[in-house]
Amino acid sequence: MVPPGGRSGTLFYGILPPELEWDRAPGQRLWAPGRIRCAAAATTAGTEERDIGIVVQKYGGTSVGDVTRIRRVADRVARTARDGHKTVVVVSAMGAFTDELVDMAAKISPVPPGREMDMLLTAGERISMALLAMALHEAGISARSFTGSQAGIITDSAHGKARILDITPGRVREALDAGDVVIVAGFQGVSQDTKDVTTLGRGGSDTTAVALAASLGADVCEIYTDVDGIYTADPRIVANARRLDRLSFEEALELTAQGAKVLQVRSVEIARNNAIPIHVRSSFSYQPGTLVVPQEDLVEDAIISGVAHDTSEAKVTVQHVADRPGVAAGIFNALADANVNIDMIVQNVSEAGQTDISFTVPSGEVHIAREVLDTLIDEGGAHGVDVEEHIAKVSLVGAGMKTHPGVAARMFTALSAAGINIQMISTSTIRVSVVIAADRAEEAVRAIHDAFDLGDRP
Ligand code: ADP
Ligand code: ASP
Ligand code: MG
Repeated sequence: MVPPGGRSGTLFYGILPPELEWDRAPGQRLWAPGRIRCAAAATTAGTEERDIGIVVQKYGGTSVGDVTRIRRVADRVARTARDGHKTVVVVSAMGAFTDELVDMAAKISPVPPGREMDMLLTAGERISMALLAMALHEAGISARSFTGSQAGIITDSAHGKARILDITPGRVREALDAGDVVIVAGFQGVSQDTKDVTTLGRGGSDTTAVALAASLGADVCEIYTDVDGIYTADPRIVANARRLDRLSFEEALELTAQGAKVLQVRSVEIARNNAIPIHVRSSFSYQPGTLVVPQEDLVEDAIISGVAHDTSEAKVTVQHVADRPGVAAGIFNALADANVNIDMIVQNVSEAGQTDISFTVPSGEVHIAREVLDTLIDEGGAHGVDVEEHIAKVSLVGAGMKTHPGVAARMFTALSAAGINIQMISTSTIRVSVVIAADRAEEAVRAIHDAFDLGDRP
């Protein structure tokens, strides 16, 4: 990107062409030095190098959705670098490219080998990282892109949902020290044991960014996305949802674990454990977004911070299991050994010494759960298994509910007024969740949001 304008010494001044205008006032100046190195840009000749903070920025799929947008991201990254920050940029795959790769794989194999699936999916981020590096070079910024493996992101070997075990960011530090902007492909790493490439689960670029921020001792991790912060509910579903200025790590953990996909839950966990503030903001404006910070940094406790929903789970019921000690342990140990993630669990009232146990699992893991439970049935441990795919979990989250009675009652009343049947209930100290029919999920979110007056207008 070379904006039109004239040169002044090494600085290049110009007015942004219309396609590059974001939230900038018309005619506002963009300055773009010639090919310089960002750390050097922060220093004035003859003065001591000032203490330069590391900033990690992550740009999601929409933000790098096409070549024009990649250029815009390069402009924003260039500003950060020229402000004197050592800048690390984590990118997602362009637009819906990961979904397209998943669809292609599904046409070839219903259950593709995990290793090959990860080889395929990591290609998406590799494309955007290289294009962004090129755009930065065009803007006169020295930049180097790295795959997750090159950036030292070491994971376990659970393909499709690998966990980061360690980061050895030697090459990243070296590039930063040399004055380069570092670009890292999000959502991927390399297995410590098998040395194969892994992915961190959908939305995993958030986790790459926060984990890198923690390992580099960054001041902040900025998550640039297609909304301008974290809202009281998904703004695509609730028209009057309100943007939150600040949110505690605990509330963000609950909201994201319950389906608010604005951040991957693991990223919030790492941020909390390492006290790295996350700033969720729009890549299409310069407005501040939502800061996710420790509880003690909040001015006041909101009773309720938001409503989240999740349609990615299925409900599995194991029928007629013996109602005696050790049976639940047997079922859930077997599922844990198969690496199946269990969420809500309900055991029904026992009749004639037998009971039903229901639980929810990610839809993508139902086939593994079935295999495990079929073995149990063959061994006489249960009579049958029923799977209900069309369910949704709707959750209400708020740190203040610990001290305010009646929150669950108000939520259930709102659902009953909307004629929505509750199938399962679970709670934590700052959350109430229900399982309902999937086709009523959005209606339920709106009803609960209204019942607690969470919107910014009636
Ligand atoms: P990216 O590709 O930038 O990672 P995502 O699609 O993963 O973006 O996450 C952003 C989306 O999260 C928003 O477009 C919005 O629809 C959704 N979302 C769900 N719940 C919330 C919420 N409480 N606040 C903001 N966005 C939310
Ligand atoms: N591209 C991956 C996904 O779509 C990772 C990410 O965007 O965070 O899930
Ligand atoms: Mg995301």
